[in-house]
Amino acid sequence: MAALRIGFIGLGQMGVPMVRNLLRAGFSVTGYDLNAAAVSSLAGQPGFSAAESAANVAAGCDALILMLPDSTIVDGLLWTQKLSDSLKPGQILIDMGSSDPVCSRENAARLSALGIGFVDAPVSGGVRRAVDASLAIMIGGEADSVSRVRPALEAMGKTLVHVGTAGAGHAVKALNNYVSASGLLAACEALAAAESFGIDPHLVNQVFNASSGKNNTTEHKVESFMLSGAFNSGFSIALMRKDVKTAQDFITRMGTPGRFADACFTNWEQAEQSLERGADHTAMYKHIKGT
Ligand code: NAD
Repeated sequence: MAALRIGFIGLGQMGVPMVRNLLRAGFSVTGYDLNAAAVSSLAGQPGFSAAESAANVAAGCDALILMLPDSTIVDGLLWTQKLSDSLKPGQILIDMGSSDPVCSRENAARLSALGIGFVDAPVSGGVRRAVDASLAIMIGGEADSVSRVRPALEAMGKTLVHVGTAGAGHAVKALNNYVSASGLLAACEALAAAESFGIDPHLVNQVFNASSGKNNTTEHKVESFMLSGAFNSGFSIALMRKDVKTAQDFITRMGTPGRFADACFTNWEQAEQSLERGADHTAMYKHIKGT
């Protein structure tokens, strides 16, 4: 079977390294982003061609990957700007951004009525794991569409889990980031309090990582991005606030208790408002310390 021709829209912090890994695996990729500088960062890569518009990307591919900030942008592009008119029956749209699961389920149904497949395949692991092609990818969609696009997903990720029908991947992604955001918040509060008591936060984190308080933040973010003062993980606080909101809305819609999610969201929203525009999500530590 011929390799899929990939279209890719959204060449940001994650999109660019993901495209590089598709190219490395031998896929041809046509890319587009509103930001021309993002597109030109891939110019000259063997197998890559830049498109003039989103519609041009859609016209010449078998599978169209979207790596965009949120569902509002995905829906605007598909339905208001009518990207859907450029898609043809038999093509598959893969939404790899962290979109809203309910919107994604609706998109899958609307595209299906046009003969177009839909797979949601959001990722976890951040820029570091996008670069080394070891992303975790949680997949929603019909089995035949998923198996068609699996080789492309395997070029970008290491752990692929097909969690259910359309929207299920986006639901799991939002819930994962809610759990991650809660762990980060707790770590920041704990480290700041320990420091106020006169304990070296590096030593506190060392203890956490050897104890039951260990989490993804204490292992991969505290030293590199928080205590170092770098605050440059590549994942913005605006996107983290969006993910926690998606999870909070989802929990509410499912009728399950969400008091902790409510408190978590309020904290992320307030931090985003108090920090500089474009701040990284690890700057939550600065916010908690009031510096
Ligand atoms: P980003 O802001 O760096 O990139 C998004 C890109 O989309 C930008 O280059 C922007 O110009 C482009 N864009 C926006 N609207 C567009 C449109 N209408 N047409 C064409 N291009 C458009 O974001 P990112 O950090 O790469 O994240 C992308 C998605 O992946 C988000 O949903 C995010 O939540 C998710 N995600 C990010 C990370 C991370 O560590 N950065 C990790 C996992 C998941």
